[in-house]
Amino acid sequence: MSCIFCKIISGEFPSKKVYEDESVLAFHDIKPNAPVHVLVIPKMHIESVDALDESNIDVANKALLAIPKVAALLGLKNGYRVISNCGEDGGQTVPHLHFHIIGGKKLPIKLN
Ligand code: 5GP
Ligand code: ZN
Repeated sequence: MSCIFCKIISGEFPSKKVYEDESVLAFHDIKPNAPVHVLVIPKMHIESVDALDESNIDVANKALLAIPKVAALLGLKNGYRVISNCGEDGGQTVPHLHFHIIGGKKLPIKLN
């Protein structure tokens, strides 16, 4: 498996972990674009939102449910932004489903 995030899950690549349970991992983005920038990923390799279907939606839901827990751990009491880039036009660079949690300041209104 050549997927970077699968290697982070297996421990082959290091990461700064924020939260982990049996099906979800959250870790700091290596190139943060805000004071807080964390990625929440399912441990199962799902390519993107576009690959969601009945067979993997429970796993994706677990990642979504982890988002408020991670936000609380990060102290994001005043809100945050959740982004999932999908495919080439969506700007996705790592083909393993992930939800960016971005915050720690009032974010500008923009498309990404
Ligand atoms: P995308 O562009 O696919 O929406 O988001 C991928 C994110 O993964 C980017 O924000 C990028 O900085 C982050 N990223 C890429 N490689 C690594 C890595 O090896 N470690 C960590 N922690 N983040 C990574
Ligand atoms: Zn993967």
